[in-house]
Amino acid sequence: MIENVVEFFRNLPAKQCASCGDQMEEMHECYNTQCEKCNSQA
Ligand SMILES: [Zn+2]
Repeated sequence: MIENVVEFFRNLPAKQCASCGDQMEEMHECYNTQCEKCNSQA
């Protein structure tokens, strides 16, 4: 079961920052639509 979850996340496309378009790889911040840089400026 755990392996299936890992495969699921591996198949997901890289997230992009909604503001600057930078790729974000931090999967634990899935609630965040902006990178750390843009998020700190908001
Ligand atoms: Zn950004």
